[in-house]
Amino acid sequence: MDKKKFLIKTYGCQMNEHDSEKISWILIKMGYSETEDLQEADFIIYNTCLVRENAELKVYGNLGALKQLKREKPDLIIAVCGCMMQREEARNVITTKHRHVDIIFGTHNIHRLPQLINNHLKTGKTIVDVLEDSREIVEDIEANRKYSYKAFVDIMYGCNNFCTYCIVPYTRGRENSREPENNIDEIKELAKAGYKEVTLLGQNVNSYGKTLKREYDFVDLLRDINDIEGIERLRFMTSHPKDLSDKLIKAYGELDKLCEHLHLPIQSGSNKVLKEMNRKYTREDYLEIIEKIRNELPNIAITTDLIVGFPGETEEDFEETLELVKEVEFDSAFTFLYSIREGTIAAKMTNQIDNDIKHKRFQSLSDTLNEISLDKNKKLIGETLEVLVEEVSKNNPDVLTGRTRTSKLVHFKGESELIGSIVNVSIENVKTFTLEGSIV
Ligand code: SF4
Repeated sequence: MDKKKFLIKTYGCQMNEHDSEKISWILIKMGYSETEDLQEADFIIYNTCLVRENAELKVYGNLGALKQLKREKPDLIIAVCGCMMQREEARNVITTKHRHVDIIFGTHNIHRLPQLINNHLKTGKTIVDVLEDSREIVEDIEANRKYSYKAFVDIMYGCNNFCTYCIVPYTRGRENSREPENNIDEIKELAKAGYKEVTLLGQNVNSYGKTLKREYDFVDLLRDINDIEGIERLRFMTSHPKDLSDKLIKAYGELDKLCEHLHLPIQSGSNKVLKEMNRKYTREDYLEIIEKIRNELPNIAITTDLIVGFPGETEEDFEETLELVKEVEFDSAFTFLYSIREGTIAAKMTNQIDNDIKHKRFQSLSDTLNEISLDKNKKLIGETLEVLVEEVSKNNPDVLTGRTRTSKLVHFKGESELIGSIVNVSIENVKTFTLEGSIV
C-alpha cells in the first residue's frame, strides 16, 4: 500500500525551518513520506510566523484556498502550528473561519503531534493543543534535515528581552538553555554523519547558559564545539548587543572553526528610538563592540537588522541611523519597515509613522547599504576565498553556489559532485550581494 504523503509549508525564521525539520522527522517515523505537491498530500501542515502581519495574512489566504481541496479529499488532514498559534486571537480565527483545519498546536509541543493526529483520527474532531509556555525541553526529537553538509542546532529557546516591537517573547516563552551535553552530543552525531558546518540557533544566543544549574556560558559551548572533530565551520544566530561579551570577542581570535562573520542586529542608530524599542544599549555601546571586534579580527564580516519607521522616529533619528550605517560599513543588512504587531507594546504607541515616509526612508537606507556592500565586495576581487559548496545555481545548471566563511554568496563553475565539499575560489567579479569566480 502506498505511503501517505505530507507537505510542510514553513513561514518565518531559521528556528521555524528547523522546527519543520523536526516535524518532518516525526511524520516520517509515523510512516508518512514527504511531497511538495499539494494535490498529492494526505496531510498538509502550515508552520506559521507572527513577526510580520503579511505572514499572518498569507496563512489565512492559503488556508482559505485549501477548503476546496478538503471537499475533494475529505480524508485530507490539515494542521497549523508555529508562533501564530500561540496567540489566542489567531486560534479563534482558525476555529471559526477555517473549520476545515483539523489540528492546531504551538511552538512548545511539537513532540505531541503523533498523539494529536491519533486523537483527531479517533474522534474526527478539531484538536487544539497549545501550551502558553513550557520549561520542559524535549530532547529525543531528531530532524529530517534539508541539507547533508550543514545543520541548524537549537541551543536554547525563548527570549526575555521584550523589545517593544517584538511578539517573540509572547510566542516562544522565557529563555531556556539546553544542557551542553545534549548540544555537544547532537553535533558529534552530525560530525559522524559527515556534516561540515553547524549554525547554533537561539533568539539571543549570547545569554545561553543563564538557566543552567552551573557556570557554563555561550563561549564555553563554542569552545567545546570547536574541539569536535569533523566540524569545520561554526556559526550562530541571533546575537544581542547587550549580552555580547568581551569573552566572545576574544574567542573569535582563538577558535579556528568559528567563522569570521557576526550578525548583530542594531535596529536603529538613534538612542531615543533604541530606548523606545527597549533594546537596552546605546549606539555608543554598539560602536564600541564593533571597534573591539575589528581590533580582534580586522576582516570580520558584520551584518545587522534595521527597522525603519518605528513609532516616533523623526527625520533626525533616521539620519542618525544612516550615519551609523556609514560609520560601521555593514557587509549587508536585513531591513524592515516597522509594522504593528498586535499584542506588542509598540502597537499601542500613538505616534505611528506615515507609510509614505516609511517607504522613502526604507529606500534611502537600502541605497546606502547596497552602495557599501558593493564597495566592500569590490575589495575582494583577486582574493582566493574558501567556499562551502551548497547547491547548483537555480538560474544556470553549470554554476554552483556556496558561502565563504564571512557568509558571502559565491557563484562559480563546477560539477555538482562538489556539493558539500570545501573549495578555494578566486574572486573575479562582484555584485551587491554576490561574488563570482573560479575554483583554484
Ligand atoms: S531580542 Fe528582542 S527582537 Fe529578538 S526575539 Fe527577543 S524580544 Fe524579539
